[in-house]
This record gives sequence, structure tokens and C-alpha cells, in this order.
Amino acid sequence: MRLVTGGIMHETHTFATVPTTLECFSVVRGDELWAYAGTNHSLGGVLDTCRERDIELVPTFFAHAAPSGLVERVAFASLLDELVTRIEAALPADGIVLTLHGAMVADGYLDAEAEIVRRVRAVAGPEVPLAVTLDLHANIGPEMVTGSTIVVGYDTYPHVDAAERAREAVALLAATIEGRIRPVLALVKPPLLPVPQAMYTERPPMKTLFERAFALERAGTALSITIAGGFPYADVPIAGMSVLAITDGDPAGAEQVASELATLAWSLRDQFRVQNVPPEQAVAEAIGFPEGPVVLVDVGDNIGGGSPGDGTVLLGELLAQGAQEATVVITDPEAVAAAFAAGVGGIVETHVGGKTDGLHGPPVPIRGRVRLLCDGEFVHEGPENAGVPASMGPTAVVRVEGINLVLTSRKTAPGDLQQLKSVGIDPTRQKIIVVKAAVRWRGGYAPITKHSIDVDTPGLGSVDLSRFPLQHLRRPIYPLDEVVEPQYVRWTGSSTG
Ligand SMILES: [Zn+2]
Repeated sequence: MRLVTGGIMHETHTFATVPTTLECFSVVRGDELWAYAGTNHSLGGVLDTCRERDIELVPTFFAHAAPSGLVERVAFASLLDELVTRIEAALPADGIVLTLHGAMVADGYLDAEAEIVRRVRAVAGPEVPLAVTLDLHANIGPEMVTGSTIVVGYDTYPHVDAAERAREAVALLAATIEGRIRPVLALVKPPLLPVPQAMYTERPPMKTLFERAFALERAGTALSITIAGGFPYADVPIAGMSVLAITDGDPAGAEQVASELATLAWSLRDQFRVQNVPPEQAVAEAIGFPEGPVVLVDVGDNIGGGSPGDGTVLLGELLAQGAQEATVVITDPEAVAAAFAAGVGGIVETHVGGKTDGLHGPPVPIRGRVRLLCDGEFVHEGPENAGVPASMGPTAVVRVEGINLVLTSRKTAPGDLQQLKSVGIDPTRQKIIVVKAAVRWRGGYAPITKHSIDVDTPGLGSVDLSRFPLQHLRRPIYPLDEVVEPQYVRWTGSSTG
């Protein structure tokens, strides 16, 4: 068996003010993709399972960028052209595996994944089985599903099963190629637009949904079930929750499973609402808590959701309230440069953060001693993305009153303890840690956290969706609108005929 693999991953916040350019993407080509082998990444799962199953795999092209603003038209065109050209050059193949995110929006392409699948189909032809892996925050639309033979999304958030789900996708693809199954897909979308914070899979309502889905999978009612919470900050018609069921040649059965779970999600809609604590109250509570670490979740500046990572509201509040042994990470290349100019042991006096868009608090004046300067490179210890390298760019640790201020050149979503350990900070010894996240932080931090507070900070990650000028989203949708008669989007079909 011979498979071809490649992909493009991006989660697009269409209200972010800074567009995503070609330079924002990290790209690997051909055999460079093997660097992902052994990692807890979707691509890692594809590589490892093909190796173990003695499947000949041709890696072609993989590009990804940190969640950020609308992808520029030329950037998308360039990436997609290269992906398609390289896949075409690797054909013929028995099957294709695409590693996608599912919430990518490019200028002119409200459903970028649909365009990727359409273009790959165009060169591969209608007969070649095509498997797609997606993030749990995918906004799944009928167009993308139409061109796909298999679609498998993560079952976890934090996304600790990325490699495992890719293995599942390859197993289903292989079974299709060998003629053991004839996959039929049913997609049902309830009118639900939950925020990421409500999608933590260790708690209801997502836990409730996945427990039912796993029971149906175990019973053999469906070959695979994907429940994607969606990404509400991508203003597209298909934004919001999706349930996708795959059965073996049974369209009615697939529809039945997807409908049951979509109806269950709708019945749990009130549990998807969240309410966060005002910053002043949250910081006071953290300071007063008898143990540490207390994690203050800067939800408004959720880097994993596309925000700039330079929000200052909690830094300002921690300084104002005289917090001790608190750690805050802020992305600010200018401030990093000032710290490098001062040198280790030197005093740096500058303004940090709040420089990208004016949505996440103003720059905060600081004066502190430079404790450490480094290149900001680390490797994820996991569980999420275990083994995958990360780069914060040139990084400085500055001690400002009672605060360990980590200044990075590149925004880096928190969720892995190596981010702090690699700059000499022992997370377990901090009284307060600010994480610019919604849920992802729990992957690394949950085991050491004594208490956490979701803070109602302003910004692109705000859980109040009415703050965003939505134009393309289908309406009515809960909780933005009052929905009297829920309308479900439905699609059922099979690419294998
Ligand atoms: Zn995600």
C-alpha cells in the first residue's frame, strides 16, 4: 500500500487586526516531514502508524502557523499550489492523508479546508480514498466533507490525542483501500456556537457528549464519531459545533448517530455558557489563596485562539495589588531588545505589551533587573505536542517587583511546563501564574495547579461573542440569538460512491 501525505494547519481569528502572511508559516517539505515522527502531533501519528504497518508513505509538504488573523490570499495560494503540486508529483497512490485544522479562513476562501480538499481531489481524481484529520476546534462544512472519504477529529481538549486520532484515520483509510469497509459520512450541525473555554473535554457538557459517542463507537453503531466544538472567532457560515459520524455503508445509521449527538448537544446548550471573573477580583482572590500555584487564565488574550499574547491587564493588576512570586509571559520583541541591551544583571526600564492592537490593555511601564537572556527554544514535554519543538524567539526574564516577567519575541501558546522551565522558572514554586489561554494550559499545568480562575479580560478571546461584528455567521445561533426552532445543517454522503 502506498499513501501520500501533506497538509496546511491554521486556526484563523477573522477579527485579529494583523493578517497572516506567508512568512508566518513554518514549512517542511519531502523527507523533512519525518521530523514529526514520534511526536504527539497529527502528522506524527500518520508517520508512525504507516511505519509500523509497513505502508509506503510519501511525505510531501506541511505548513502551519500560530493561530492569528485572516490568511492573505497570496499566502494561501502559494501554500496550496505547492501542496497540490507536490501531491500530484507523488501520485499514483492508493490513498491520501491530509493533516488540516478545520478553522482556516483565507482572504476569498471562507472555508479554506474545502478549497484544499477540492484542489487535492482535482489532481487525485474521484476514486482515490482521501482521509482528513482535524482539530477539535474545526468548523466543519458540507463542502469539505463532500470531497473526503474519511474525516477524523480530536476527541480531547487539551488536544492530547492528536497522534492517536491520526492513527485512527489511517486505519480507516487502509480498511477502505483494502475493501474491508465502505465509509459513509453524515454531518449534522446544531445551531450552537460555544466558546473554546466551554469545550474542556474532562467536564460536561463535552464530557457528556464524548461519553455517549464512545459508547456508540464501542457498540459498533459507528466506525468513528467526530464532535467538533468549532471556532467561534472565525466569522464564517459554517462556524460552530459539528457532529460527524462514519458508518460502514449505512447512510441512515450515520444520520441517526450524528442526529442523536447533535440533539444531545442542543439539549445541553445552557452548559456551554460561561461567566468569568473581573481582573481586579481575580487577582485579589489569587493573592489571598493560601497555596500556589494559582493559575490566572487570561482568556481575553488566548494565544491558542489567535490573540497577540501581549495583553497587559493582568500584569497591571498584579503590580497594582503588589502580588509576590507571580509569573507573567508577554510577547514584546521591543522590550526583549531593551532587556538584551541592558544585559544580564542590568536594569531595564521600558513599556511592555499592549502594542499590537489596543484591544488587550495599554503598554505597562516597568523597571526591573534582567535575570536571564536566551534564544527561547524548547521542546514540548507534553502531553500535548510532546516532542515538538517550539520557539519563543529571543527571550528575557526580568524581575519586576514581585513578578517574574518573561518577555518573548514570538507568541507561544501556554500549555507546556517547558515554556517556564526552559527559562529557569520552576512553575511549582510560583504563587501565581498567568496563562494566556482558554483550556490548553490545563495539559501541562493541571497536575501542579492548586486553584485556577478564568478571568474576564478584554480582547480577541473574549467569551462575550456579542462584542464581535459578525457578518457571515449563520443566524440564529445560540447563545448569540434566541433560537425558538433549532435549524440543523445536514449532509450525508460517500466519496466512494
Ligand atoms: Zn484546537
